[in-house]
Amino acid sequence: MHHALWQSVLGEIELSVSHATFTTWFKNTELVDQNESGIVIAVPNIFAKKQFEVKFNDQIKGVLAKNGITPKHITYTITTTGKKTRINRETTISQESQTPESLLPSSNQNVQSTYTQNAPLVGAGGLNPRYTFDNFIVGSSNDLAYTASQAVAANPGVKYNPLYLYGGVGLGKTHLMQAVGNEIVKLQPGTRVVYISSETFVNEFLDYVRFKKKGFSDKYRNIDVLIVDDMQFIAGKEQTQEQFFHTFNFLHQNNKQIIISSDKPPKSIPTLTERLRSRFEMGMTIDVQMPDFETRCAILSAKAALSGVELGQDTVEYLATNIKTNIRELEGALNQLLAYAEMRGIAPDVSTAEGLLGNIRHSRPQHITSKQIIERTAKHFQLKVEEVCSAKRDKHIVVPRQIAMYLLRSELHLSFPKIAGELGRKDHTTAIHSVEKIEKAIKLDFLIREQVASIREKLYA
Ligand code: ADP
Ligand code: MG
Repeated sequence: MHHALWQSVLGEIELSVSHATFTTWFKNTELVDQNESGIVIAVPNIFAKKQFEVKFNDQIKGVLAKNGITPKHITYTITTTGKKTRINRETTISQESQTPESLLPSSNQNVQSTYTQNAPLVGAGGLNPRYTFDNFIVGSSNDLAYTASQAVAANPGVKYNPLYLYGGVGLGKTHLMQAVGNEIVKLQPGTRVVYISSETFVNEFLDYVRFKKKGFSDKYRNIDVLIVDDMQFIAGKEQTQEQFFHTFNFLHQNNKQIIISSDKPPKSIPTLTERLRSRFEMGMTIDVQMPDFETRCAILSAKAALSGVELGQDTVEYLATNIKTNIRELEGALNQLLAYAEMRGIAPDVSTAEGLLGNIRHSRPQHITSKQIIERTAKHFQLKVEEVCSAKRDKHIVVPRQIAMYLLRSELHLSFPKIAGELGRKDHTTAIHSVEKIEKAIKLDFLIREQVASIREKLYA
């Protein structure tokens, strides 16, 4: 009974999401319980759980409702069968030297078209159809930005205006903003959406000045949604900022949606004029952080699936463990691995990845250590390492200690007893509580979010 219902739900969902999304997330799911308080769906791993909770929940609810079922709650639980392989490089290398058929790309043609295509077509308004919500993976590093972007796409000009996204390179800002644009055009054809980089804005303005053209201030007034990427390039250019200020005000007063990205929050761009800064702060300002381990794994699996390749869990974890900087690099390494394996007719497995990544890794910062994490955290809070590792319960020490534990978990993937040990604790339940506490705090407390992001950034700088 459960089975039939879920099959029909899946059948419907399969029609509305991309093939890769379906195989990556929905294929190995099951409806395991249905009772008064709701239904329980089993998903294969922790990152699938996250995608379901944040991304697919509404969709599933919708399809269930169509089937006459309106559960109070939908719970996602991780399947216990098919145990997740932990990273164990020493053993995996020797075991993986064979080339299992199943790991090879199923159809070469298929593969080629996706991962060798780096210069996709850009359509009208500067939108690139490659960037959609569908192929954006949600994790704790970007869920706020994702949720706000979706809200904006559903109701442009209404709720978060302007929407201001900030964060380091390669973390998905452009992808998200483009996804908003694409979604709006899809939902409301005819909406005039313009995506430009702030550099383009600057150059166009300079052209007008140089050639004494008139009417620049009208150029961007005739649109419904203005997306300006990498705002930091406008900062410092006073006349351009002045122009942008007028454009901004005009659109904003007319309830047109504005979306901006930058590498920093408005308050940290010193050359941004006060007027613009306060405008930007009127709406919603959200950071996009470095993806955590789970998100990196999820992105790798999903991107491989897009290329028609099913990567082994150990390969995914190997790449996610070794590439922590940003998503662009993660994608780059994956594409390299797939292309290399295809060329040689071998499986894109851990040993192949190791061979390739060996080269990549030499040129990147050393692997960080527990010691560095603790030192960095202590330094950030102007504490001594001994204080962070002490048993003191003062609040100004407890929170940094919890953050250090959190980072030991998120960056090095240490076990809880090990984390406790690194901070001079005997009881590992403290470590569990601390990590959980910071995980939660990051969602609710912008200060903590920024502190963690800043420590992390310095660790890899
Ligand atoms: P930014 O604008 O922050 O520098 P981009 O949006 O250009 O970063 O992202 C870099 C690459 O990583 C792009 O190819 C993008 O599609 C991909 N990417 C980033 N975040 C995600 C995500 N959450 N899920 C899937 N792909 C992502
Ligand atoms: Mg960008």
